[in-house]
Parts: sequence; C-alpha cells; structure tokens
Amino acid sequence: MAAGMAGLAGLDRETLDLTLEAIRDFAAERLPDDVLLDLDAKDEFPVDVVRAMCGDELGVQLLFIPEEYEGMGGGAFDVYRVCEELARIDLGVATGVLATFLGCDPIVFGGTGEQKQRWMTRIASEGLLMAYCATEPDAGSDLGALRSVAVPVQDNGHLTGYRITGNKCWISNGGFADLYSVLALTPGGPSWFVVERGAEGLSWGKPEDKHGIRASNTAQVHFDDVEVTADDLVGGVEGQGLIQAQLVFGYTRLMVAAFGLGGGWASLDRAIPYSQERVQAGGPLSEKQGFTHKLIVPHAVRLEAARAFIEETAERIDAGTPGDGGDNLNTEGAIAKYMASEAGNAAADAAVQAHGGYGYVREYMVEKIRRDVRITTIYEGTSEILEMTIARDRWQLHLKTRGAHYRQLAERARADAAAHPDCGGATAALALAAVAAVMEHCRAGRLTRNQHVLFRLGELISWAESAAVFARRAARAADGTLSDKAHRRVPPPVLAAMARVFAREAAHKVALDGLRWVIGAGGEGEAAPLAAEVALGDVALAQAGSLADMDLVADALYQRRSAPPPSAGNGPVH
Ligand SMILES: Cc1cc2nc3c(=O)[nH]c(=O)nc-3n(C[C@H](O)[C@H](O)[C@H](O)COP(=O)(O)OP(=O)(O)OC[C@H]3O[C@@H](n4cnc5c(N)ncnc54)[C@H](O)[C@@H]3O)c2cc1C
Repeated sequence: MAAGMAGLAGLDRETLDLTLEAIRDFAAERLPDDVLLDLDAKDEFPVDVVRAMCGDELGVQLLFIPEEYEGMGGGAFDVYRVCEELARIDLGVATGVLATFLGCDPIVFGGTGEQKQRWMTRIASEGLLMAYCATEPDAGSDLGALRSVAVPVQDNGHLTGYRITGNKCWISNGGFADLYSVLALTPGGPSWFVVERGAEGLSWGKPEDKHGIRASNTAQVHFDDVEVTADDLVGGVEGQGLIQAQLVFGYTRLMVAAFGLGGGWASLDRAIPYSQERVQAGGPLSEKQGFTHKLIVPHAVRLEAARAFIEETAERIDAGTPGDGGDNLNTEGAIAKYMASEAGNAAADAAVQAHGGYGYVREYMVEKIRRDVRITTIYEGTSEILEMTIARDRWQLHLKTRGAHYRQLAERARADAAAHPDCGGATAALALAAVAAVMEHCRAGRLTRNQHVLFRLGELISWAESAAVFARRAARAADGTLSDKAHRRVPPPVLAAMARVFAREAAHKVALDGLRWVIGAGGEGEAAPLAAEVALGDVALAQAGSLADMDLVADALYQRRSAPPPSAGNGPVH
C-alpha cells in the first residue's frame, strides 16, 4: 500500500449522514425533476448550482480534502456514499463535482507539502472548480500515447518552469474550471501540472453536444505554450504522472462505480412505484412475476452485489490494507466499477422497458437516466479496459500461486458458508472453483493468446469475486458485524436472498461461459474434464429455490406480504 493511500481517515456516521441529508435537501430545492429535464433539453451546465455545491452553500469539495488543509478528511467510503447520492440526483451535475475530485487527486496523492498547502486550502476555502486533463485525441484508453509536452524553461542553467503545448479532449468542466490538472510529457516522462484559469495560451472549445450527462460541461482544452513555474509540477519530480494516476485508481474508480450504482437505483426508484400504479390485464404490473423477475428483481440484486463489492473495497482502502494482488486495490476498484456501471446500465435499460411507451419519452426521467448512466462504462476506464486489467492482474496471481488462488478463495467461501448456509457462500464457492478450473485450462492450452478469451476471463472473475464478497457481507449483516457506516436499507434476510440469487447467476455464468470460451478457443478436447471440474451438475442443482428467492426479493422491494420489516431506523429497500 502506497503511503499516499494509507490511512484515509473518514467521517463518523453522524457527519456522513448529515452530509448526505444536506445534499438531498439542496437537490430538492435547487434541482427538482423539471429543472433537470430542462437542463438536459437545453444542454446546459448549471454552473451556479455546481459552484454552490462546491462552494460555501454545500461545500461538497471539503469531503475529499484532508483536515489539515481545512477539509473534512472524508475517506473512500464517504466519497462512495456521496457520489452515489449525487448520481441519484443527476449524473451530469455529479460529473461536474467529480471533475474537481479527480482534478485534485494528483495533488492530494502526489503533491509536495507546500503544493498541498497552496492548492488544497484554496480549493477548500474558495470552492474552486477543477478539470482533470488526461485524455487526448489519440490517447484515450492508452494514455501512454500522450503527445502534450512540457518543455523545460531554464535561466542560467537553472530550471525555472515549463511551457506546455497540447490538446486535451472530453474534459469535464473544461470550459469552466478555475484550476486545470494537466498530464504532459517532460524529458523525464509523463507529469502532472496545475494550470490556473487565465494563464496565457490556455483556451477551450465549445461544449460537446452529448448523448447524456448534458448538464455537465465537456470541452476540448488547448494549451499553446502555456508557461508554468517549476513549482507547478506536481510532486516536484518529473516522470511521476502515470504512477500518481495509478496510485489512486482503486479510489477514483470507486467514485464512478458509485455513479453506476446511483444511476441504476435512480431508475429503479422510478420503475418500482410506476409498476405499482400501472394496471394491465386486470392488475398492477408489480403483481406480475414475468414483469418483476425480469425487469426489477435481477437489477436490484446486481446493484446490491456491486454495492457489497464497493463497500468492501472502500473499507479496505480506508483501513490501508493492500489488495489481493498486493497493490493499492486497483484491481478491486476496477471490479467495483465494472460491475456497478454495467449493472447501472442494465437497470436503467430495464427501467425504460418497465415503463413501456412512457419510458420512451422524456417526461418520466428514466429516458434521461438511461442516457446519463451510459457514460459510466466509458470514462475512468472503459468496461473493456477494465476487463483486461482485471484479467491480467488476476492471471498473474493464478500463475504465481500455481492455480491455488481461486481454489483458496473457494475454500474460504465454503468455510464462511458453514456458519451462514443461507447467504449463497457455497454457490459462490462453485463460481470461484470454476474460475480456477477455467484459468488453468486457459493456461495449459495457452488460450489467452486470444484477447477475447482474456477479456471474458475478466468478466467471469468479476462475477465470481462479487458473489463471494456479497455472500460474506450478507453473512456479516446477519451477524450485525458490518461497520456502522454500511448501507442498511436492505434488511439482512433480504440481503441474504439477494446474495443467493446473485451467487446462482454467477456460478451459472462462470461454468457455462467458461466452457464456452475454452472449447470455442480450440480446447474441444477439454470439454469432458472441464465440464466435470466446473461441476456443471452442482451448478444446476444450486439453482434450486431461485424462484422463491426472487419472490422474496420482489416482496421486499414492493414492501408487501412476506417482506421482513426494514432494519431499524432505515427506509424501504429501494
Ligand atoms: C462525457 C465525457 C467526459 C469525460 N471526462 C473526462 C475528463 O474529465 N478528463 C479526461 O481526461 N477524460 C475524460 N473523458 C475521456 C474518457 O476517459 C475517454 O473517452 C475514455 O478513456 C476512452 O477513451 P477514447 O474515447 O479515446 O476511446 P478508445 O480508447 O479509442 O476506445 C474505443 C473503444 O475501444 C475499446 N478499446 C480501447 N483500447 C482497447 C484495447 N487495447 N483492446 C480492446 N479494446 C480496446 C474501448 O473499450 C472502447 O470500447 C471523458 C469522456 C466523455 C465521453
């Protein structure tokens, strides 16, 4: 664990709750649905609202600024909760806030003490908006292809500053930021600089006319011989840029994971009450299993599985424990973002379907949410890049442990299941053991030469790990041992049912897709042994009870019949 990431302190529960409440109150007053629809239609960035959020009125930016620089010193867990709350309101506005969070990160985790003092205190007290300028026209997923340059300026042989030249694209807050974090190539390698608005040679293009998050500003940013001082080089040493970006991936990806979660729930929060009102064929849609078990229940389950993974990763970041690969939880952050953003997209799509023709028009909001949440599988690492990252990282673990890694995780899930047989741990163990078998066959047959096989492994790994984490957290919820800040709107018996539903889906997916890709990539001879190793029969038998569990989850979401009461002091499941 890098020093920069360790010991993110975190708020106490009361402060976090008050912060979330303040955001909800602010949104109710300043960002009701009609205002949001109007901003979307006009393609308008509500700069005053975002400034109020990041300034004196709400002060959201204080959350991620350490206390020593006049901030609140929130941890990864707090940032996740706040990002989810912002996303539930509007992903465009949330992106305007996120850009400041991201823009700050190189300073928080890579800046010198003097730089932190200089910039963080200003961001805290003046509520400055920031932009994070990494992407370029030819350097998107592959930041190594960066072309912007920072040429050293010397005076009598002493380095006094740099001149930055280059074009950045897709920059959130690009036309409105007060401070720009910019990644540029120095002689020593890629490095972050901070540039102030008003610097000579700094300009931006017209706002992009986007598919979604239209209430955010996205623009090209041009640097034409922009002069900065040597003190504006973050960390004071050249060539640290990609390392500094890497340091915080676990953390920054959690923010976008929380966006997927918030966007997904925002859409279900509309589809659920809508389906209680909408009567077709003699009864409300909410009473029709063919509707609920396709369009509502699986999405609530996948979102809560993603939440479990986000929460566990956030807690590990805040505790300063390393990831399974011994790193800064980058792989775990990637899994969290991948699963949450994919689940958020699927949920929003289903919410449009759940509204029928009404979902296809703007008035019901789900149409806008569907377009908004689309961005979460694109920015901060596309889903495909995350699949690659996850597969490569875990492949290393597979090789290093000679295939034992996932077998051990399966053992652990089975052991957990002995104490809590009702939380899906045994089925999650089937998924993990199947991952171990599939990876081993891929190794023996050298099948990851096929990029598609590697990427699909990333998907299967993410499902299996998520199933195990969900089962574990459901068991902890049942024991009452989750941290006091954990999200508690789902009562423990419902969480257990959700974990069972998710584990069944994960085991089924890993076993069948694993077979499919191994055989599809030329491993026909492996069909019989692999089918036995992924325990196809057990995976099929594990599906027993799935309809009853889905009924139970539906009853909880609709607060009817057999639904257990919500946990003390908490609202309904949705
Ligand atoms: C609205 C919006 C806001 C944004 N805000 C910011 C911001 O504030 N700051 C910032 O720096 N950037 C920002 N971005 C940029 C964003 O991070 C990039 O768009 C993203 O990283 C993808 O890069 P790209 O668009 O160049 O796509 P590409 O990298 O060209 O990818 C295109 C497709 O190819 C796939 N792909 C790419 N590489 C591979 C590979 N090696 N193997 C297989 N498939 C591959 C991708 O998954 C994707 O599906 C924003 C983008 C948008 C749309």
